[in-house]
Amino acid sequence: MAHRVTLIPGDGIGPELAEATRRVLDATGIAFDWEVQEAGEATIASEGTPLPERVLDSIRRNKIALKGPITTPVGSGFRSVNVGLRQALNLYANLRPARSMAGVPSRYDDVDLVIVRENTEDLYAGIEHMVGKDAAESIKIITRAASERIARFAFEYAVANDRRKVTAVHKANIMKLSDGLFLESCRTVAADYDGRVEFEDRIVDNMCMQLVQKPDLYDVLVLPNLYGDIVSDLCAGLVGGLGVAPGANIGTEAAVFEPVHGSAPKYAGLNKANPTALILSGVMMLRHLGEQSAAVRVETALREVIAEGRRTTYDLGGSSGTSDFADAIIERLDGGTAAAANPDPASTAAR
Ligand code: NAD
Repeated sequence: MAHRVTLIPGDGIGPELAEATRRVLDATGIAFDWEVQEAGEATIASEGTPLPERVLDSIRRNKIALKGPITTPVGSGFRSVNVGLRQALNLYANLRPARSMAGVPSRYDDVDLVIVRENTEDLYAGIEHMVGKDAAESIKIITRAASERIARFAFEYAVANDRRKVTAVHKANIMKLSDGLFLESCRTVAADYDGRVEFEDRIVDNMCMQLVQKPDLYDVLVLPNLYGDIVSDLCAGLVGGLGVAPGANIGTEAAVFEPVHGSAPKYAGLNKANPTALILSGVMMLRHLGEQSAAVRVETALREVIAEGRRTTYDLGGSSGTSDFADAIIERLDGGTAAAANPDPASTAAR
């Protein structure tokens, strides 16, 4: 039976990356029934909202979505579709593996980190108001329930994927109540995994420096929403940039797979952007669907094409377009040269 998946192409470079990814996933021979749902800038004009209810209904029905990036105007206007979607579907865990790839220029060649970001609260709760004309207040919400839930997700991920350590990241020295509660919740959950998974904590500023200098000391990181957003871009930078960083938003009722990067409007429609991050998000989706061998084949083909370096996009030092890069991966899948296993263990967490 075909897997029915909601496909949200998104804005900017989203549609061309979604097309490339769909072609690669279809080339595995796994049957997909793609339910394409437009959201973002285009539907503001046609439907008065960037996140029509039909999109949420489609994901609730199919329980799984592959999503391109969606533009969020800075300052006034609509709230972020990405944040709205995560909150509406209670996709509480944002999982972002950062793993080095041969052929991708970067500072280190052996980074293997997994960022587990809380996805529903913190400063992203969207509670903001003006205080008079010249001051503004944003309210940071941290609850014990959401903090323990994300910490448990991180530890369960570590156990399922043979990872040795979970590091909680916070600023509890300054925000003693909110970040203090996050840290306390992580410690409570860590006690249940004593002897099985190591636990430690780091203050976020120190964590950033340590990740730049000694990323090999870390394994799985668990963070509240805002630090998680920032630190995952830092980790994407450690493995070659946003073009290669995949992600998954996971809840109890649905999962939405999307790259870390945004809609990069300056490259929209130019057939220039790198589809790797969305394709790797597709690999995480394949694992979530139980299609392990297809996941291994796609990831191996992708890694081989990148390592070879002949048909990659500009950000990887190549001169191929998005679609030619995808063709190169498909040719490798068809040629069957991608049978050797080189799976990304990080991706299995999406199961
Ligand atoms: P961005 O990630 O879109 O782009 C920043 C830069 O990274 C680009 O200019 C480009 O140089 C590079 N880049 C990103 N993706 C790439 C790819 N696939 N291939 C090659 N290079 C790539 O970040 P931004 O410019 O800050 O944001 C643009 C818009 O995207 C904003 O409206 C933002 O709100 C939105 N956004 C959406 C999501 C999402 O949909 N989940 C995430 C982040 C940002």
